[in-house]
Amino acid sequence: MTEVQYKSTRSNSISVKSAEAILKGIADDGGLFIPMSIPKLEVKIQDMIELDYQELAYIIMKDFLNDFSEDELRYCINNAYDDKFDANIIAPLEKIGDTYFLELYHGPTLAFKDMALSILPYLLKTAAKKLDIKDEIVILTATSGDTGKAALEGFADVEGIKIIVYFPEYGVSEIQKQQMVTQKGKNTYVIGIDGNFDDAQNGVKEMFSDKALLATMKDSGYIFSSANSINIGRLVPQIVYYFYAYLQMCKSREIKPGELVNFAVPTGNFGNILAGLYAKSMGLPINNLICASNENKVLYDFFKTGIYDKTREFKITNSPSMDILISSNLERYISKISKDNAMRIAELMKQLSQFGKYELKKEERDNLQDIYGGFATEFETSEAIKEIYNKYNYIIDTHTAVSYSVYKKYIDETDDKTKTIIVSTASPYKFTSAVMNSLSESLQDVDDYELVGQMAKLMRSAVPDAVKDLDKKRRIHHTICTKSEMKQELLKILAMK
Ligand SMILES: *Cc1c(COP(=O)(O)O)cnc(C)c1O
Repeated sequence: MTEVQYKSTRSNSISVKSAEAILKGIADDGGLFIPMSIPKLEVKIQDMIELDYQELAYIIMKDFLNDFSEDELRYCINNAYDDKFDANIIAPLEKIGDTYFLELYHGPTLAFKDMALSILPYLLKTAAKKLDIKDEIVILTATSGDTGKAALEGFADVEGIKIIVYFPEYGVSEIQKQQMVTQKGKNTYVIGIDGNFDDAQNGVKEMFSDKALLATMKDSGYIFSSANSINIGRLVPQIVYYFYAYLQMCKSREIKPGELVNFAVPTGNFGNILAGLYAKSMGLPINNLICASNENKVLYDFFKTGIYDKTREFKITNSPSMDILISSNLERYISKISKDNAMRIAELMKQLSQFGKYELKKEERDNLQDIYGGFATEFETSEAIKEIYNKYNYIIDTHTAVSYSVYKKYIDETDDKTKTIIVSTASPYKFTSAVMNSLSESLQDVDDYELVGQMAKLMRSAVPDAVKDLDKKRRIHHTICTKSEMKQELLKILAMK
């Protein structure tokens, strides 16, 4: 087996083991860590069908994190994927009509971010121990709504760690916001930004590469890490459920082992779908990955034209976790198609930060395989929710609806008969008002929390603990700041000012 090590997308001189990549989050040159090579799966599909989620997770993750001992990795996995998930198989697959929905929202915060953020704290603590880090770790996180709560939940009261979350104050759903600002834990800090997700993400990235800040922090006994999907400690656990979905398809005899499937993935920062690409590189029989965007369709345009252009109006949509114009993880994909040409990546990323855009060369565009890009408008998203409910009595959230809608367009355009799994990234309870308003026009003025009760009736299920009585919880976090004040707020928290 090859020793998987990680290098920066932007230079060849930086290479580290996984523990260090997880701890750092981002490389010193601003690049993202990528595996030098993707390990090939040595176990046959047939032999994995009966594995439970935890066992499968171990098999998939061990080659990416091969500086972790078996005991260490199993400890992380077993503590992450336990009864904090309300489905005992962790990621159930539902057959609805002739498609399949992979429900990744059975964790404590009702979004797929729990799949990675329930394990990241354990990976990070283990990595810090292995590297003999004595400093306190400060997790800086920008969120478009779901990462924030999942990270807070995962890191709350974890010793030796502080977690600071920046979210767009006016760009998340009511339920998402309330989940974050009521978060308990003496090491948790939640700050609203008077700006959008890209502002928050850029602000965080700037602090990560602020040499003077890093030095002051070091003197005070702090180091940074990241809970964003730029951290490979989030990417690697996400590969697991692509395999798990496939194996469930085999188990229920929907497909034969070896048969190709598609995945339709609602995409924002390009983390989830990138994990799907890694699964394919490992040997999972995937035909196409369908990259579904909302009206912030930078990725759709990119796959169509080879031009990445973020200079456009930022739209606030009903799928706010995908309201993103700078999809950070695309850097890893571009790196893959340019055969890890670090100089080229550094050049493209410089163009992106200077001019807000870059363009691929013809031969680079020819390598844009494996991915089909599509987008859904707000209207189409609502229609998809209505259609699925009316036909099948099944309720999907707005993000999942974007990918279902794009999947339908894909079928119309390609006539592809390959069985397709829609990656279902959030519970409809998280976006109650948008979902319920899609189902009925008479609910415009009903408040989110009342709609939660109505939704439970339609779904004939109990309201999940995560939203039950959420409206009665006391707001603990009140700070709102501008993008330029983000650093100041950090210094206040760390009492360095
Ligand atoms: C984060 C998120 C997405 C987008 O995932 P990326 O990995 O950023 O592409 C989609 N849907 C939901 C509900 C999310 O929380």
